[in-house]
Amino acid sequence: EGRPAKRQKKSTSDVWKGKDYIMYYVVEEIDGKKVRVEWAKCTHCDYKRPRDNKNGTSVFKNHLKTHNVVPGQQQLKLDKKLGETVAATPTPYKYDPDVSLRLFYMAIIMHEYPFVISEHEYFVEFIKSLHPTFPMKSRITVRKDIMAIFVEEK
Ligand SMILES: [Zn+2]
Repeated sequence: EGRPAKRQKKSTSDVWKGKDYIMYYVVEEIDGKKVRVEWAKCTHCDYKRPRDNKNGTSVFKNHLKTHNVVPGQQQLKLDKKLGETVAATPTPYKYDPDVSLRLFYMAIIMHEYPFVISEHEYFVEFIKSLHPTFPMKSRITVRKDIMAIFVEEK
């Protein structure tokens, strides 16, 4: 049959397949040079650390064990859809204003949106329609928070 071979330990990247981590960048100064360092933050708690190749993904995998989360679980479920019942529990969606706000800031940084987007009437309406209590910030606060992202963890 045309089914792909069972994936077992195919790569260490299973940890990134689920929604267990969000990625963001921190600008650090190394030897006087500004370097963009990729960080990953756990979506289940406040755990975060840089993604460096040195340490690989095992630390991130091990961390998920504290939440009883199996990395790449959702992918695995899809692969096994036609197989026998899978007892895996899906990771439930959890609204976290901090995570959402961080993603909003990442969008501003990566796509170079103007800070004032946070005050654009129809954009605010759009956000409120998704989550009425989303703590939308003024452009002044957005600017301040984004500057803080660039210096945090130094
Ligand atoms: Zn965590």
